[in-house]
Order: sequence, then C-alpha cells, then structure tokens
Amino acid sequence: MKRKEINSSRLPVYRDAGFELYNAETTADAFKKETENLREPELYIYSRYRNPNVVSAEDEIMALEESSWAILTQSGMSAIDTILSVFQHGREVRPWLFFTEIYGGTISYIDSVLKRRRGLDIHSFTPEDGKYNLSLLDNEMEKLRPELVYIESVSNPMLIVPDVRRVVEIAHKYGSRVIIDNTFATPWLYKPLRDGVDAVIHSVTKYFSGHGNLTAGVICGNDTGLLKQALEYRKFVGHMLSPDDAYRLQTQIQSFELRFERQCNNAAKLAAFLDNDTSIAKVWFPGLESHATHDEAKMLFADKGWGAMITFDFSGKDGDEKRRRRDIFIEKVSPAIKLIPTLGDSRTILMPVEAVWGEKYQEPGMIRLSVGFENYEDIERVFRSALAVMEAL
Ligand code: PLP
Repeated sequence: MKRKEINSSRLPVYRDAGFELYNAETTADAFKKETENLREPELYIYSRYRNPNVVSAEDEIMALEESSWAILTQSGMSAIDTILSVFQHGREVRPWLFFTEIYGGTISYIDSVLKRRRGLDIHSFTPEDGKYNLSLLDNEMEKLRPELVYIESVSNPMLIVPDVRRVVEIAHKYGSRVIIDNTFATPWLYKPLRDGVDAVIHSVTKYFSGHGNLTAGVICGNDTGLLKQALEYRKFVGHMLSPDDAYRLQTQIQSFELRFERQCNNAAKLAAFLDNDTSIAKVWFPGLESHATHDEAKMLFADKGWGAMITFDFSGKDGDEKRRRRDIFIEKVSPAIKLIPTLGDSRTILMPVEAVWGEKYQEPGMIRLSVGFENYEDIERVFRSALAVMEAL
C-alpha cells in the first residue's frame, strides 16, 4: 500500500516501537532535541520515550487540571513512583512526610519500596477524630523540615478532606513541596495547582477513564524542573503508557465531566437515603454535615459536589452481627451491584473494607461504595429491597 494521508478526523494509533529517523543527521538532531523539547517532539524516536497518542491524551488532562504539563504512566502507582523518585537525590534526602489516610497500595509502596528497599527517612502524620489537626502539622513541620508532604484531596475509605490551602501554606513556609493524589476529587471538584500544590497525581484507572477497563496514571504540574526529571525517570524506568491505552483514554475522557457530575449527584442522593436507614449505623460522605471534614469539603469543592464515594457501616450488637448483615447485603444487591475492588467505574460497585484492609478500620461491617452513573432510581431500588431484608432480620 502506498503511504498517503487518510482523511480521518482522529489521531490514529501509532504503535511504532521505534520511529523512522531517515539518516544520521536527523537521528543525531532528534536525540539532541529529545531532552530539550519537553512536550511534542518534531521527530518521535522510540515509544518508551514519547508517543503521539500519549502526548495527545496528555493534552486532554492538562486542560482538565489546568496544568502546564501532564505525563501519563501505565498505572496510578507508577505515577506515584515517578513523582516521588524525582525527589530522591542519592543519599542526600531530607525526610518525607506522608498523611496516613491514603490509599492502601500507596502505604504498601511506602513500607516495602521507600522504607525497606530504598531506606528513606519516612514520617507520618495521623488524623485525630476523623480530621487533620493542622496546628500540630505546623509544629511537626517546624521540627522535621521535610523535603515533601504527600496528601490525598479525599482520603480512602474515610473520605477525609484536608484543608489543602493551609497544608500548602505550612509546607511552603518550611521549604517543603506538596504532592497530592487528586483521584477521588478529580479536577471537576477541585484543582489543587490553583492553590499552589507542586504536583498532582491521579489513578487514571478511575474517573478519567471511567469504565473500569483501563489502567493508567498521570502526574500534572506547572514546574518545568519537575517535568524534566519526571520525563527522564519515566523514560529510564519505562513507566510509559501504551499507545492503545492512550487512544482509548483519549476517547473515554471526553465524557469525564458528564459522567462525574452525574456520579456526584447520584452519590449525594444515595448518601442521604442511607443516612436515614435504621439498619445503617453510620455513613461517611463529605456532603453530610455529620462528616468530620464537611467544612473543608465545602470550602474546597465550593458546593459543586462531594465526590462519588460513600462508606457506611451496618448497625448490629457486635462485630459478628455487623459482618453477617454486610454479607447478606452484598448477596442481596448482587448482581446489580457487584463486589469489585476498584472505583470510578461506570456502574455502582462495592467493596467490604475489612476484607481488604483487615483491622485498620474498626467497624467490621463497613462497605465502600463507588457510585456509578446509572439512573438514580434504579440504584435506590436495589438498595431499598436489600435493606428491607436487613430490617426484617
Ligand atoms: N491512588 C488512589 C487514591 C487509588 O485509589 C489507587 C488505586 O486504587 C491508586 C492511587 C493506584 O492506582 P492504580 O491502581 O491505577 O495503580
């Protein structure tokens, strides 16, 4: 077939592992410019370095996070590994401070990679009564002067929202950089770079891709120095997203705002419904006034929504009764609502917290819900009939 321009309105998938560089002069020029040109190269060299579909999907995320750069990786964890590794300069590393209410996989990464393998000096900052005491953070930071502070805009699974503006103010006062995982809030609710956060990461696997069928991660920022180092790390370690996944992401992300707005609305209605049900002991949802960080969520999200995650616990005289109710509930809502250990899928899915994170959370009946964008009435109907069974117990 002769090579010619095809009149497609979309960027095709460029699966080339290596791109044609024609002669020695253009090759030398392409390699020289590879480290100078930080966005779209004139000539692509090798898909592990840069790929047209990946660059194009990055443009979509930059527009959403209002960042001056975004770099995609093949999972949320590789985005976390990339941005954190940028701050590791040989053995001369200042301490790093992590808020403790973060994704369990990030905690395992901290324990087994950062502490055990890399021997880094890691410190943690714990919430009290469901929220972070930032006066204590100030004292801690004054003593520790960490190189970086790592937080989540909405934590998993208690949905704690820290006052990010104050965290940034305190961190910058002591010369620390702030990295935030904005997966649960998404830029639809909150854009951390506007408040001076130094780098934002996402598990793109969740709301950006939105259909439970793609694994990816992203780092966004405005600081060119961080971009240069993150690009270099992604290239040398090979944390690059595949062109096919970048292509699919680029399609799926176009409906992100529509989907997420609807998911947030569904979640707000469902949280209010669950909060009124007698077989449920407690609901954690930042939109409820009873949530310990309702005020922080109101301030950061400006009443736009509260996210699409809900955590709740069954009532019961003891742990065993709560667990029994949880198990009956899971059975009764199935197959409409499936037990799938992820979030941000198009459909409502659930996860029993204790079965995944053990005894870290004291309430054994706890269920974490990721609310989908089905018709709200359909979701409520499934819950209503499962909860009616519980009440009859
Ligand atoms: N950050 C958060 C808040 C998550 O929930 C997850 C995964 O569940 C990750 C990061 C890791 O993302 P991935 O599974 O895409 O590597």
